[in-house]
Amino acid sequence: MNIILAKPRGFCAGVTRAIETVEKALAKFGAPVYVRHEIVHNKFVVESLRKKGAIFVNEVDEIPQGAITIFSAHGVSNRVEEDAILRGLDVIDATCPLVSKVHREAKKYEEEDYEIILIGHRGHPEVEGTSGRVKKEVILVTSEDDARNVIIKNPDKISYVTQTTLSVDDTRKIVEILEQRFPKMQQGLATKDICYATQNRQDAVRFLAKIVDILLVIGAKNSSNSNRLRDLGEESGLPSYLINGAQDVNIKWLENVKNIGLTAGASAPEILVQEVIEKIGEIAGNEIQVSDMNGISENVFFALPRRVRK
Ligand code: SF4
Repeated sequence: MNIILAKPRGFCAGVTRAIETVEKALAKFGAPVYVRHEIVHNKFVVESLRKKGAIFVNEVDEIPQGAITIFSAHGVSNRVEEDAILRGLDVIDATCPLVSKVHREAKKYEEEDYEIILIGHRGHPEVEGTSGRVKKEVILVTSEDDARNVIIKNPDKISYVTQTTLSVDDTRKIVEILEQRFPKMQQGLATKDICYATQNRQDAVRFLAKIVDILLVIGAKNSSNSNRLRDLGEESGLPSYLINGAQDVNIKWLENVKNIGLTAGASAPEILVQEVIEKIGEIAGNEIQVSDMNGISENVFFALPRRVRK
């Protein structure tokens, strides 16, 4: 049995930065530090930070006044920021710089009086954060159907931003429909807001899909970019499974399979990849060959928030 590992896979620069921010804050200020929302969408990561003294909450009103508070990589709305100030929280913002870039873009469109469409998944924390960065109502488009039916007050002055972790192909289709319906929509690359990590991991799976019989994606059920990798495998006609880790590998999936494609979403640590390889080795009586696909090496790094740099 061959396991071919996607390249790149796993942690992106924004996730690495967010996790390091919590670790450095714990080292500098001592436990506990409070984190609004899961710092990244991965239970393994959240549990290991919890063991070190991080306390995860859904809203800032659960945090004691004045406490060290970290905003997750997904970003927050203006309201959350204001609530934190009113509560006197000591905030360290671990929002991924590529999400902050989308926030600035939405703000700029608002200042120029555009109606703003946000392409993304309803209820995702990044979507809530981005829509809450502008005062005017943002119009959420979640699908091609939405794009066909969305009602715009002033089609002469609209623009769009997107979630950073969407399917590149789906987003292109949605933008195409919007551009046909609203020719005066602010133009630009459909994938302009989809981050490098999402695009690279999808490209790697597209390549893998041509050479493997099955695709395993390590990632949490609520991880948008991991779900898109699984979708991409399915769209390519492969049996594709999203797993939390080795415990989810089902022996039946591997029957009569020769080549297994293995990848990990941007918030899944490499240790989980190694555990899945071990598990498959046990199932296959250690008759496995593991290789990396011939993919690109990423060299992206984001500086930590100033408060935890030293
Ligand atoms: S997936 Fe992209 S936007 Fe999200 S944290 Fe990673 S680099 Fe940033």
